[in-house]
Amino acid sequence: MSQDSRTRAADEGKPGKPGKPGKPCVLAVSKLMPLYMGPLAERYELLERLHETDPAAFAAAAPRIRAVAASGESRLPAELVGRLPALEIVAVMGVGYDGIDVAACKARGAVVTHTPDVLNDDVADLALGLMLSAARQLPAADRYVRAGEWAAKGAMPLARKMSGARCGIVGMGRIGKAIATRAQAFGMSIAYTARSAKADVPYRYVASAEALAAESDFLVLITPGGAGTKHMIDARVLRALGQKGILVNVARGSVVDEDALIEALEQGIIGGAGLDVFANEPNVPERLRALPHVVLVPHIGSATTSTRQAMADLALANLGAHFAGQPLKTPVPECR
Ligand code: NAP
Repeated sequence: MSQDSRTRAADEGKPGKPGKPGKPCVLAVSKLMPLYMGPLAERYELLERLHETDPAAFAAAAPRIRAVAASGESRLPAELVGRLPALEIVAVMGVGYDGIDVAACKARGAVVTHTPDVLNDDVADLALGLMLSAARQLPAADRYVRAGEWAAKGAMPLARKMSGARCGIVGMGRIGKAIATRAQAFGMSIAYTARSAKADVPYRYVASAEALAAESDFLVLITPGGAGTKHMIDARVLRALGQKGILVNVARGSVVDEDALIEALEQGIIGGAGLDVFANEPNVPERLRALPHVVLVPHIGSATTSTRQAMADLALANLGAHFAGQPLKTPVPECR
C-alpha cells in the first residue's frame, strides 16, 4: 500500500473527518476467538458475520466496511470481496491464508496481513507430539490402561522407536525449520523437500515428496494449503512411505488426498498417521475415526493461550498500523 493511501486511511478513520467519520467498520468474516473479537469490538465498529446472518443489513453496511478480520481457516472468496467496495485491509489471525482470495483483494486495492513466526514453536511442538504419539501409540496406551486391559491382558504390543529414525519434512519454511531443530534433538536424520533448496539449513534437499517419502520413516507435512499443494500427498507418495512409515500432517487437510490416505491406512500400505488437519473440518470421516493406530487432534497446532494471544495482538497491530497510516507489521508476501 502506498504512503498516500496509508495517510488517507489514517485521516478517514478519525472522528469528524469528512467522508468516513467515526470508528472504521470491520467485518468478522467467520467465527473468531474472543481474544481477537474483544479488542475488535472495543476499537472498531464490528459486524460479526453479517453477510451470513442478515444479507439485507450486510448489503446496507457493505459500502462502509473497510476491513475484514479473519482466522487462518476463514474463507474470503472473490465473490465476497466483490461485495466489499470500500475494503482496504484483511487481517488474518493465523499464518495460513489459503482461504483468502489474495488476488481479488489486491485487485480491489486491499492488502492482506497474517501472523507468521509467533506460532512456530507451538506448531512444531505439536508435530513432534504427533510423531511420538503415533510411533509409541500413546492414545491407544492411555485407552488400554483406562479400559482395564493392562490388568486383564498384560503388556501392550511393542511400539515403534522414534529416536534416531529418518525424518522427512515437506516444507522447510519458518515452522519446518522449528520442526527440524526439535527432530535433531531426537537424533533423527533430516531431509526435506520444498519448491527450492534452502541455503540456510544444513539438511539434505530432495526434489520431490515421493522421493523424500521413500527414504523417510516419518513424513511431516508443513506447507501452505491452496491450489499449489492440493493432494501433493497422494497414493503414490503413501506407497513410497511404506508399511512402516508414519505420516504427520500439521499443514492443511487439502495437502493430502484423504481418500487415498484412508485406503493406505486400512490396507497397511503405511504404518500410521498423526493428523491435526483434515479435508473438511470439523468433519472427520468415520473410516478414519475407526482406525485405532491413527492419532487425531482437532486442528490445535497453535492452540495455546500465550500463542493465540500473540497472534491476536499481531493481527490487531496490523489493523492499528493500517488505520494510523503506519507501515504494516506483517503483510503476506504477495502484498509486500
Ligand atoms: P512458510 O515459512 O511460508 O513455509 C512454507 C514452506 O512450504 C516453504 O518451505 C515452501 O517452499 C514450502 N512450499 C510451498 N509450496 C510448496 C509446494 N508446492 N511444494 C513444496 N513445498 C512448498 O510458512 P510457515 O510459517 O512455515 O507455515 C506453513 C504452513 O503451516 C501454513 O501456511 C499453514 O498452512 C500451516 N500451519 C498450520 C497450523 C496448524 O494449526 N496446524 C498452524 C500454523 C501454520 P519454498 O520456500 O521453496 O517456496
